Amino acid sequence: MREHTFGKRTAAIAATVVIAAAACALNGDTFLIALLLGRSFITLKELNSSVVLDMNSLLTTRQNSILPDYLQIPLLGSRMTDVLLFVYVSIVTSLSVFYTIGGFLHVCYYHLQRHVPYEWKCQPKRFLTDANHRHEVLVGTLNMTMNAVISGLLTTNIYNGGYTTLYFNIADWGYLYLILSTVGTFVYVEAASYYMHRFCHVPLIYKRIHKHHHRYHSPTAFAAVAMHPVEVLAYQSLLILPMFIIPIHAAAYVSILLYDYYFGMLDHSGIMMDSWLPWQPPTKFHDDHHKYFHCNFGFNTFAFDQFHDTIRKKDRQYGESLFGGHGKKQT
Ligand SMILES: [Zn+2]
Ligand SMILES: [Zn+2]
Repeated sequence: MREHTFGKRTAAIAATVVIAAAACALNGDTFLIALLLGRSFITLKELNSSVVLDMNSLLTTRQNSILPDYLQIPLLGSRMTDVLLFVYVSIVTSLSVFYTIGGFLHVCYYHLQRHVPYEWKCQPKRFLTDANHRHEVLVGTLNMTMNAVISGLLTTNIYNGGYTTLYFNIADWGYLYLILSTVGTFVYVEAASYYMHRFCHVPLIYKRIHKHHHRYHSPTAFAAVAMHPVEVLAYQSLLILPMFIIPIHAAAYVSILLYDYYFGMLDHSGIMMDSWLPWQPPTKFHDDHHKYFHCNFGFNTFAFDQFHDTIRKKDRQYGESLFGGHGKKQT
């Protein structure tokens, strides 16, 4: 018994470590920021050596490109130098991480601990059918690839001096602004996600688009990106927006993206986990969204569900046809 408890705890810790590490590279957006940070370090290093270099010309001129000439696409212009490399790396990184995390959790819990679901599973009596599991992996793979291509294109453009409002030197805006802009962006991401998700539960949109994500009644981590491609693009746009709208420190922005991806995966894992952060709901909160459909629309806080009274209540009835977010009084 003791051995079993130890094994379970070890698996949980290992899962957390692997996800945390792998989430760093989960999405092309993160890859993009990592490159931008890299670029800023290169520039600072050069400036420290008292060699004044124009950052853009340093990185956009042909002699500084990474790929040989025959792998460049001159038609796209200098802002898209090395585009094939960025897109390739973005796809490989995203898909490797997707399979590593999803596969790891699957083996640790859905195979090795399948016989004791009451010890770890949010919905112990329910597992995805094999067909639905294959579906979430396939759709997730296609969406990850689409995201990676878009992020690869964006990365190329910004790395080569394209427009962004990200900044790299804290002194540019000061510590107070750093804190306010970080909290503000976190709240923006959560608000945008809540209202987008709520919009997806409007009957017409739900039936045409969002229903695809809800075919996974007891999802696994692969379901985090398994949805209609239009929905993926909508969420992706909301996440990307701040880096073109408000000045935000690159590291702060990376942290917010990582936070979002990390908990996005855990929330779909179907594995019971509490959060160590007081504002972050446990994984059961979003798992209940898949179980009961029209409630618990938030992701990283209870706040918007509390404000709109859309948290699931035990004395109410919920179901796929009971729209509105407040359930129905039980009779
Ligand atoms: Zn939903
Ligand atoms: Zn979901």
